[in-house]
Amino acid sequence: MSKVKYYYDSETLSYRKIERKKRRTFTYISIFILASALFGFLFVFIASQYIESPREKALKRELANMQLQFELLNKKMNEAETVLENIAQRDNTLYRMYFETNPIPDEQRKAGFGGVNRYKSLEGFDNSKLIIESHKKLDILQKQIVVQSKSLDEIAKLAEEKEKLLAAIPAIQPVRNEDLTRMASGYGYRSDPFTKVRKMHWGMDFTAPRGTPIYATGDGIVTRADSNSSGYGRHIRIDHGYGYVSLYAHLYKYNVRKNQRVKRGDLIGFVGNSGRSEAPHLHYEIFKDGNRINPINFYYGNLSAEEFNDLLEKASIENQSLD
Ligand SMILES: [Zn+2]
Repeated sequence: MSKVKYYYDSETLSYRKIERKKRRTFTYISIFILASALFGFLFVFIASQYIESPREKALKRELANMQLQFELLNKKMNEAETVLENIAQRDNTLYRMYFETNPIPDEQRKAGFGGVNRYKSLEGFDNSKLIIESHKKLDILQKQIVVQSKSLDEIAKLAEEKEKLLAAIPAIQPVRNEDLTRMASGYGYRSDPFTKVRKMHWGMDFTAPRGTPIYATGDGIVTRADSNSSGYGRHIRIDHGYGYVSLYAHLYKYNVRKNQRVKRGDLIGFVGNSGRSEAPHLHYEIFKDGNRINPINFYYGNLSAEEFNDLLEKASIENQSLD
């Protein structure tokens, strides 16, 4: 209910209603709204400087979480780095050492990236330091992995080569233990069965019945299978590479031909009594770089410790060889 206001009209001597002009009312209202709006904006503006909006709060939380995650990732990268360092150390001090190759220096493993600043685009933010640090760490980690991987490739190759070497070296007894009548004579000074003169016996004699199988003691190529060498009778030579040659003498029969490739354990011939031999036996020699060496150290492939001890004992007795 609006109050009705009156005024006294002296001309008509009567009271009259005061009528406010509609236009003026409109102006008042407009000014009021405008002022309220202005004040409102001002209030919101000032308030926004000190009070966070829900969205701002959410973003802040997200940022804090992101920061935390970054720190966690950095920690994980540190752990990965430690593991990789362990591998690198084993690589240098064990694997590379074992295969007789030089260790990879630390500077090479951990080298960063020189030249242009790769992290320029990451600079200038509040979290730049954290982010750049993480990038650097990951880059170095990545490089370390590449270096390690290359090193392992190299080692795999060396291992393969070593495996070939191990397969090539004469490493077993050329006659099976159960086929042996006895080990007749070892490497060293023995009396000659024919002249009875003490002289150097350059191999080992294994007595076995005629026709007993003889096996290749390592991988290689047959370079000789003939009787054109005085004294040895029918004999076989196998070139194993790496400077190793094995010789099998006084054979009864061959089971291989010249230039044939053989594997360790392949049947190459049979025990006999050909050449300068007193009784059926296998005379076995090993050459390293052209020099004859004691075969006693080359049976680790198929003899037990006991069998080896037994062999060693018999081989060191200075008796008469069968030649
Ligand atoms: Zn002999």
